[in-house]
Amino acid sequence: MSQAAEALTRHSGHPGFRPGQREAVEAAMAGRDVLVVMPTGAGKSLCYQLPALEDAECLTLVVSPLVSLMQDQVEGLGGRAELINAQRTSAENSESLRRALSGETRMLYVAPERFWAPGIGEKLKGNVGLFVVDEAHCVSQWGHDFRPEYFKLGEIARRLGARSILAATATATPRVSGDIVARLGLSDPVKIATGFERPNLSYDVAAVSGERERERAVSALLGEPGSLPAIVYSGTRKRTEATAQRLSRELGHHVPAYHAGMDREPRAESQRAFMSGEAPVVVATNAFGMGVDKADVRTVIHEAVPSSLEAYYQEAGRAGRDGLPSRCVLLASGQDKGLHVYFINQTEDPQAKSQKWAQYRAVWGFVDGEGCRRVAILRHFGDRSAAASEGRCCDACDEPLEALAAGKAAPRPKRAASTASECGDDVRDAILRVVEEASPAVGRTRAVEILRGSRSKVVAKYAYDELPGYGEWNAWRADELLGEVDAMLAAGTIRSTGGKFPKLEMAA
Ligand SMILES: [Zn+2]
Repeated sequence: MSQAAEALTRHSGHPGFRPGQREAVEAAMAGRDVLVVMPTGAGKSLCYQLPALEDAECLTLVVSPLVSLMQDQVEGLGGRAELINAQRTSAENSESLRRALSGETRMLYVAPERFWAPGIGEKLKGNVGLFVVDEAHCVSQWGHDFRPEYFKLGEIARRLGARSILAATATATPRVSGDIVARLGLSDPVKIATGFERPNLSYDVAAVSGERERERAVSALLGEPGSLPAIVYSGTRKRTEATAQRLSRELGHHVPAYHAGMDREPRAESQRAFMSGEAPVVVATNAFGMGVDKADVRTVIHEAVPSSLEAYYQEAGRAGRDGLPSRCVLLASGQDKGLHVYFINQTEDPQAKSQKWAQYRAVWGFVDGEGCRRVAILRHFGDRSAAASEGRCCDACDEPLEALAAGKAAPRPKRAASTASECGDDVRDAILRVVEEASPAVGRTRAVEILRGSRSKVVAKYAYDELPGYGEWNAWRADELLGEVDAMLAAGTIRSTGGKFPKLEMAA
């Protein structure tokens, strides 16, 4: 038995490693820098907890922005870990630090802003083995959840003399992954990425026009047998309150609301009621879910389109952690799009603005896309594996959901089965050539038109039909090609000029 497997047997009741865990544990135990990209629920924390508990010489530091998550993990480790954060008194924090430094505990969880508190750095210096950055996408401005206090963590790790760094995240596009490596200064890291497939989830996107239709859809979905417990994500605090009140009336039982504008106590009470099963439905903004781990959520409905596909995947992914069939339904309206554009235009910093446009294009590419939702999500995260749903897949692959079908226009025609995309490199070469040679420069949709051999007026006007690769990819669906273009944008192979009518250009 390997050292890692022995450690697993000693420290946990798990029957064996889950995908990716053994490699991560072994690399960390060998003192290598590690980047772990694993979807929520895949067992990310074991990747650093096990090496930490095995490290007899040095202390392992774990940095996470999620207070509740740290609290849960420390409690779960029963005395083998300590915690320092702003919610505790300074006496409690000092005692935790003392126990950690004396070797009584092997792990110390620290909120990132605590490193600026006087004294902590000097005391920890030279005692740190593994430095863990959880929710590592927060270091990247390209992530959906950038935290300024995360920016300097690489520097802090070096100052403390940490032996190695393990960065872990559940949501990283190839671009964000690259950014994490650069920002934390990981040296030749072992990269472990398990797939983003969640076979038991179905993904449906439905267009709604107007408030009434949206309300009807939410009610119909919640009214179906087997749809509860359910989380309804509303875009704004105001809508969260309104929807919770409406559903309380309709369903005949209390439907709590949860958003960051509520006082701490009623907010905690909403969470408690939902977690305990007392309230089978909660209506929330994106503030809900940090560290919420309820395994049997059967439905996650988004009443409005979130600002990024990362956020969508993370929130929708709170469904079906127990592995049983669960539904994710996104209700989209043109109004949401207008709102997104409005908020992006409020952004002053040009870099932040262009990032928001990139997220806008990705999330609306997903919503407006006609291909398999599951494939679109996998490709967005750079996951090239074939889609593998266990039951229902999505609105593009299956019949529309019954609850949504009533009163709707005819369902969209079914598409031919997806063409194999094994030849990913060839298609990327073709895209590169179009980007390089098209003049005037083209946007992503036009590039795809060219590759699929469109005979549109614009194509004729600018002689795009003379470009290499013109029409050679007509066996591919437009959304599949768009997915490839987006993956290249995400990987930084090509760039977008940004703005309302963005063009593609070669990366510098
Ligand atoms: Zn599908």
